[in-house]
Amino acid sequence: MRRILRFAVAAAATVLGALASRSVLGQERPVVLKATTVLDGRGQILRNTIVVVEGGKIARIGGGAPAGAITYDLTSLTVTPGWIDTHAHIVWHFDNGRLAGKDEPPIRAMLHATDNAVLTLSAGFTTIQSPGSPEDKDLRDAIARGIIPGPRMLTSLEPLTEQSGPPEKLRELVRERKQQGADFIKLFASKSIREGGVQSMTDEQLQAACGEAKSLGLRTIVHAHSADSAKAATLAGCTTIEHGAYVTDDVFALMAQRGTYYDPNIGLVLQNYLENKEKFLGIGNYNEQGFAFMEKGIVIVLDTFKKALKHNDLKIVYGTDAVAGAHGRNCEEFIARVGDGGQDPMDAIMSATSISAASLGLHDKIGAIAPGMDADIIAMDGDPLHDSSAARRVVFVMKGGRVYESLATDAKRRSTR
Ligand SMILES: [Zn+2]
Repeated sequence: MRRILRFAVAAAATVLGALASRSVLGQERPVVLKATTVLDGRGQILRNTIVVVEGGKIARIGGGAPAGAITYDLTSLTVTPGWIDTHAHIVWHFDNGRLAGKDEPPIRAMLHATDNAVLTLSAGFTTIQSPGSPEDKDLRDAIARGIIPGPRMLTSLEPLTEQSGPPEKLRELVRERKQQGADFIKLFASKSIREGGVQSMTDEQLQAACGEAKSLGLRTIVHAHSADSAKAATLAGCTTIEHGAYVTDDVFALMAQRGTYYDPNIGLVLQNYLENKEKFLGIGNYNEQGFAFMEKGIVIVLDTFKKALKHNDLKIVYGTDAVAGAHGRNCEEFIARVGDGGQDPMDAIMSATSISAASLGLHDKIGAIAPGMDADIIAMDGDPLHDSSAARRVVFVMKGGRVYESLATDAKRRSTR
């Protein structure tokens, strides 16, 4: 299995590496990005400046252009750090009009996953966190080697649930995940929203898993819909609460006090399920009842998000829970947060950049346009502070100093066709 996946990645790289190759030459010379508007990801707006990129990092902002630099004129665009999706199931995809399952040949599965990676990067998302699949590992490592265009990836590999075992077994599994190469641990503390979202892991299980992870230096992100499950995960010292459809004010206050991150997913996942209903229906718990619940869920999660916004000190990260059909449309979460949720657009952009970076423990590397940071920089056609739909028009993508702008344009043509 592992060998077959490796082969699939290598095959995909041959095709896609060619697309990305023009960027390789650019790495040896400094790159200058000319901009009239830069949103730095930390809440500042920089005007009429240049960003100088050297060796994959942001060398400086402003001053004169270095000799021999390659210049990109982004003056008609809005420049931001590359966006971060802290919850994207990058390997999920459709095959022959249905959600692909375990019976699909692994090579085809990996090619679909690669397609998702290209779409996601092209949409301006230069980092994603996948919670998680064993298949993520090969994709993550191939992207990191630079042979496949895609966002930098963090993965939990196989998630843990209440059925994974008693506390001692969970501790053992956390250690095992780390050994297998997981970047963090994903836990299911509640049932899915289609099954009511009640707490499924015991407090003791959560304490064991999050405690063990913390002692190994691993973060924990916890699927938790009910207020009880979110509270239990917060008290267990877990890092981030995912979804949180039924979280109450007192639990948000507790999360803010403890520094627990909140990842609402209000703009893409449920909408995408409904748009692609016939491709999911009849598989697992995707039944009519579940879909009826998800339709109501859109209003529920929006109301909860509005409640969360009132907690000024709550750290809200940017995650979409992108599944099959949603990859490359990760910006829809931003549009919903601003348009339906009433979030301040600058706050929403900080959520998608510096705040998410901090939640990943990568605040000194990504999520901001500042000297010393990795050169993950995108540009969109329009001003997202006044027109949130500008986030759909990303036309320039740089990741680690490599430019993928033509790829962005190509993928856009493909996804809107
Ligand atoms: Zn998910």
